[in-house]
This record gives sequence, structure tokens and C-alpha cells, in this order.
Amino acid sequence: MKAIQVKRAGGPEVLELVELPVPEAKGAEAVVKIVAAGVNFIDVYYREGRYKAVMPFVPGQEAAGEVVAVGPNVTNLKVGDRVAYTMVLGSYAEYCAVAADRLVKIPEGVSYQQAAAAMLQGMTAHYLSHDTYPLKKGETALVHAASGGTGLLLVQMAHGIGARVIGTVSTEEKAKLAREAGADDVILYTQTDFAAETRRLTGGRGVDVVYDSVGKTTFEKGLDILRPRGYMVLFGGSSGPVPPFDLIQLSQKGSLYVTRPTLTHYVATREDLEMRAGAVFSMIAMGKLKLRIAHTYPLEDATQAHRDLEARRTTGKLLLLN
Ligand code: NDP
Repeated sequence: MKAIQVKRAGGPEVLELVELPVPEAKGAEAVVKIVAAGVNFIDVYYREGRYKAVMPFVPGQEAAGEVVAVGPNVTNLKVGDRVAYTMVLGSYAEYCAVAADRLVKIPEGVSYQQAAAAMLQGMTAHYLSHDTYPLKKGETALVHAASGGTGLLLVQMAHGIGARVIGTVSTEEKAKLAREAGADDVILYTQTDFAAETRRLTGGRGVDVVYDSVGKTTFEKGLDILRPRGYMVLFGGSSGPVPPFDLIQLSQKGSLYVTRPTLTHYVATREDLEMRAGAVFSMIAMGKLKLRIAHTYPLEDATQAHRDLEARRTTGKLLLLN
């Protein structure tokens, strides 16, 4: 089968097209013939070596496809089932062997591409807005990178809950998309001081929660726009990691909360995974969650996909197609 492999950490050029044997379904695994694989910022971290994997490895943590083989201990799936998964390495390939208890069935009304686009970023938007800081109607949330893959979904969910959403983006084109997704106000944080503007927009009160996936360039200022006892939810670092900081700042800035969540712990059990994937799929099937699949590439163009993502050229979701 065709696969993309990383043999040494580095830039997008280390994503190499190779031939590998089709994996076998052992024990409680199923082999999935991948139709679409999601490209996510976490794939960049693995490629760069910021997150560690044993070399060589096939990157990618999200895909949708058809079950073509099941191991002897698999009871919940059969050949021909339409399935999707995330947080299992190896989706930049034509086939992947996945523990069957990490696979969810794709319901009718949801396509392979939609499923591949929704697993990681959709479930992330869901846990951030429903569990990490359960947003309530009438509250105000600031969402950074609001036209990104996760950002556009988070804006829609926050808006759906009835919260006021302030989004930040880098360009006018991205601002338009964030507004269409439900952002009430959008700040071009590359041109305007987002902290001053957020204070102005909230009449000096500040926001209830900041959802920050940008990290290095936004984190510290984000602490300055939270209401007393507000929540800083740092869930990524697309501009780089946040440097260490003195916890006393949390007290000085209003007894703030900071958390650094990751999807793994919000889909840890089979029940969590089914609940969250089910919630996201039903929002898609009912038309309540719109996926913007803006960039599709053949598998062999994974390098270009990474270049585009890192250069801030993308909006919404990137997929690799087989
Ligand atoms: P996005 O589609 O959001 O792409 C990244 C966006 O970040 C860019 O489009 C850009 O938007 C913004 N950005 C700001 N500064 C930079 C910079 N210096 N370089 C590149 N981009 C920058 O990606 P994802 O939705 O895949 O992921 C976003 C972040 O969320 C990542 O850090 C990812 O790891 C994290 N994440 C974390 C999860 C978790 O569970 N903890 C799960 C999912 C994602 P703009 O041009 O508008 O500034």
C-alpha cells in the first residue's frame, strides 16, 4: 500500500511517500481501508519531533473508511462497516490497523469525508464547549484562530449554546468565515490589539472563557481579558509553546483558572467516545454543524498540506484522499 512515512524529524519535506505491506488485523483490531484522512496541527508537532513517536512512523491521527478485515477477538464490527477514528497514529496511508474499540460507526447521512473532518476537531470543539468550560447562554467566549479547523466548529457550537462569541483571525477573508459561523464580533489580531478591543467590546467586564489554540503569541494577553474567576482554556500552540509563567499571576489577575486539556482524556472510555462522536455526528446529520472541507489533497501531496497549514493559508478542514 501507499503510505507517508517520517524517518527523521524535520520540516514538511520529511513526509516521504513509501510502499508498505497492508497491515493485518490481529486480536481485537480491525483493518480500515482509508477513504479520507484528516490533517491536523498535531501532525506537525509529531513531524517536527515536538511530540515523540518511534521512527520511522506513519503520521496522521484521524480517518474514515471501510472495514476490510477484523481480528479474531472483534465482536462489535464486521467487514463492510463504515467507520471513523481519531487519536491513533498511522492514518496517512491506504490502510490502517486500529483497535476496534477506538472505531465508531458512521451513521447514515454522514459521508466519509465529513466523518474524517469531524472526529478530531469536532469532538474537540464539543468537549471544550460542553465539558472543559461548559458554556452557558448569555456568557461570552473568546475563540482564537476562529476560522481554523477547530475554530470554526467551536464558534458554531458556542453560538448554538447561545453564548456571545468574539473571534480572532488574521485576515478579512477569515473574518468573514468566522462571522458566517456565528461569531458576533471578530478581531483581526494581527492588526488590532485583541486585548484592548475585547475590553472595549465587553464594556471592561472581560470574557468568561478564552479558548486559546494559538499559545505563544496570545496566552499572556488572554489572561488580561478574563473576568474575575474566568477560565483560560489553552488547548494548542500553533504559534509555538507558551513559556513557563508564574502562577501568582492567576491570583493577581482575578483568581483565574488555567487548564491545558487534550482530547485523549475526553474520549478515554468507550462510553465517552460514543457519546461525543454521536453528539457531533448528529449535529452534522441535522445540519446544525457545518463542516468546511476547504482543502483536499491526494495522499502523495501531504507535504503541500503541511506547508499550507503552517503558512496560515488554510481555513476549515484539510483532508488527504485515497
Ligand atoms: P487550524 O486550522 O486552527 O490552523 C492553525 C491556525 O492558527 C492558523 O490558520 C492561524 O489562523 C492560527 N495561527 C496563529 N499563529 C500562527 C502561527 N504562527 N503559525 C501558524 N498558524 C498560526 O489548526 P487545527 O484546528 O488543526 O489546530 C489548532 C490548534 O489546536 C493546534 O495547536 C492544535 O494542536 C490544537 N488542537 C488541540 C487539541 C486538543 O485536544 N488539545 C485538539 C485539536 C487541535 P489565523 O491566520 O487566523 O491566525
